[in-house]
Amino acid sequence: MVVSPFVGLEEPVESLRGVGAKRGAALREAGISTVGDLLYRLPRRYLDRSTILSIAEATAGIEATLLGTVEKVGYIPRSGGRVNVTLVDGTGAMSLVWFRGGRYMRNTFKQGDQLAVSGKIDAYKGGLQLVHPEYEFIGAADEESRLLHTGSIVPLYTGSSELQERGLRNRSFRRLIAEGLERCGEGVRDPLSDELKSRLGLPGLAECLHRVHFPDTLEQVERCRRRLAFDELYAMQLALLQRRRQRLLEGRGIAFSPSDRLVPGLRATLRFSLTAAQERVITEIQEDMGSSANMVRLLQGDVGSGKTLVALFALLTAVENGFQAAMMVPTEVLAEQHFRSIQALVEDQGVKIVALTGAQPAAVRAEIQQAVSNGTAELIVGTHALIQQGVDFARLGLVVIDEQHRFGVGQRSSLWRKGECPDVLTMTATPIPRTLALTRYGDQDLSVLDELPVGRRPVRTGVRSPARRDRVLEFAGEQMRDGRQVYVVYPVIDESESTDLTSAITGFEDLTHRFAEAQIVELLHGRMSTEEKRAVMARFAKGDIHMLVTTTVIEVGVDVPNATVMIVEHAERFGLAQLHQLRGRVGRGADQSYCILMSDSAPAAQTGAAQRLQVLCDSEDGFRIAQRDLELRGPGELLGIRQAGLPELVVADLVRQDGLVELARREAAAAVAAEHGEAGSGAAQAAAG
Ligand code: ADP
Ligand code: MG
Repeated sequence: MVVSPFVGLEEPVESLRGVGAKRGAALREAGISTVGDLLYRLPRRYLDRSTILSIAEATAGIEATLLGTVEKVGYIPRSGGRVNVTLVDGTGAMSLVWFRGGRYMRNTFKQGDQLAVSGKIDAYKGGLQLVHPEYEFIGAADEESRLLHTGSIVPLYTGSSELQERGLRNRSFRRLIAEGLERCGEGVRDPLSDELKSRLGLPGLAECLHRVHFPDTLEQVERCRRRLAFDELYAMQLALLQRRRQRLLEGRGIAFSPSDRLVPGLRATLRFSLTAAQERVITEIQEDMGSSANMVRLLQGDVGSGKTLVALFALLTAVENGFQAAMMVPTEVLAEQHFRSIQALVEDQGVKIVALTGAQPAAVRAEIQQAVSNGTAELIVGTHALIQQGVDFARLGLVVIDEQHRFGVGQRSSLWRKGECPDVLTMTATPIPRTLALTRYGDQDLSVLDELPVGRRPVRTGVRSPARRDRVLEFAGEQMRDGRQVYVVYPVIDESESTDLTSAITGFEDLTHRFAEAQIVELLHGRMSTEEKRAVMARFAKGDIHMLVTTTVIEVGVDVPNATVMIVEHAERFGLAQLHQLRGRVGRGADQSYCILMSDSAPAAQTGAAQRLQVLCDSEDGFRIAQRDLELRGPGELLGIRQAGLPELVVADLVRQDGLVELARREAAAAVAAEHGEAGSGAAQAAAG
């Protein structure tokens, strides 16, 4: 009887020879509970015979991999414990050194251990040494040398990782893998069709699983890994697109008629013409709103690309259809600003617009809540006060969430639940690289505003060390004397942490001292009362404050065109996307603007921080900056840990992959369409977009 091999992958690891209760428990602790988990624990790296040197061949200054036996372990307890291991291979001896290794490192090695070590070889006191090399425990000399001397590439799994700490060293792990592969044999069920594999040139699954562990060449490894990564992304895209399709089919949304009064009225009011990107996105949104399917669309637009206006077109369409439309924003400063600018644009047309924030006096708020619940308020701009209990909408038809990354998933859906299947438009000014967007938001529809209004001048950006602060402030003073305004931002990431706030306040006092004679310097931070914040912001917007010393409360959305200088203190403490946002606060008017990143990581030092800041000096394209941020910090940091919400990927790497997400998306869209007999209808194309 042929046992279904696919079931084999799901069998418990204990079903393998050599895995008893004890080893089984260790494997499970390391996240391996089935044969499949085991086979998908891919090698961390490979030892290639061609890269291995004998100790006699090693010379100072080169990167090398050495194989040898531990002859001696020395330990000097001073300053954290220095560990000295002598490695021998018959041609010579090499000293391996760990500073501050402590007892842990000392107990890691013992005489007779077989090691593979890699690193840069240094000259030291007339001899050679490897400082903090990467190391792997390898098997007994006979097996290892057999593998290595027949030209094989040897998979290494453990490093100093969780497996090794649980006593699962390479040799035994390799044996387990070999056993697992044998048990599953060639019969592993391949989820991809032959047609798909041959069209995309992908090898079969059984072959991949085998070759990724026991390859003949490193190219083979690449090919097999790519195939396994494709599987993962393809399965994920299928699920996302099916979910999207399901939503579209449910048709529980509102079919809004196009606006023929308010929207044309708004167009007539504008003193500029919309960008082509704005027109395109407005059309995309109108199409969603016109259909009975629920709109779930994410609008990504670079800083200053004019998202608010695009949202307003949607809001007015809902209002004209007799529904209420709400826009939720993350800060009171922004709520206030949006309220005022939208009011200026729509009040002539008699649209009843209100603002609702947590800061309003109880009586005012009660009155506004009343208007919201009886339906006299048509367009509602607010903070998360909108989702509080007691705020009931008469007939909420559209929800817009600005700077959506600032809200948790629960907060976003609470607003949605206040209506009966309202359409939802979320917006973000943190451009997300496409691979990441398709992964994280792949069940939504995506719109991109990838064009800035004409006539914006690039913001001149530079990094300055604290030694040049005086010159920087002199420059800020000149700008203020010319009638421009200045932001100085301190890194107070968590407003409840007082240490950071102290430095902002000290900075503020220094600046007040310096400029007080001629200029008005004010402080704005998240712990001030809303009324205070509102007052300061209003005065800054009017030009009554020349320099605003602030924290990241200013990061999103604030629009004061006369501000031309953005000085960021300790710039290295911010993420690139965040700095890009901060820079977006200037360059909004006709005058040349400047962004000065204060940081003591001198560019010459070529530290990670300096490299990151340089990205910002070189580009103003939010998508390119986000891509670099992704590469430098990873997806979690870029999306914001709080709601990164990324699916767990075992093989695929969202940061470094060559178009594989897009390929998986396209193929999945075609498959979903074909399944429903829609091939060639353009639906697949649209879904892939
Ligand atoms: P963001 O996308 O960063 O939220 P905003 O919506 O705040 O950008 O728009 C930035 C500024 O650009 C606003 O002052 C807005 O009135 C203006 N604006 C929007 N669209 C255009 C356009 N097509 N041409 C000129 N200015 C525009
Ligand atoms: Mg905005």
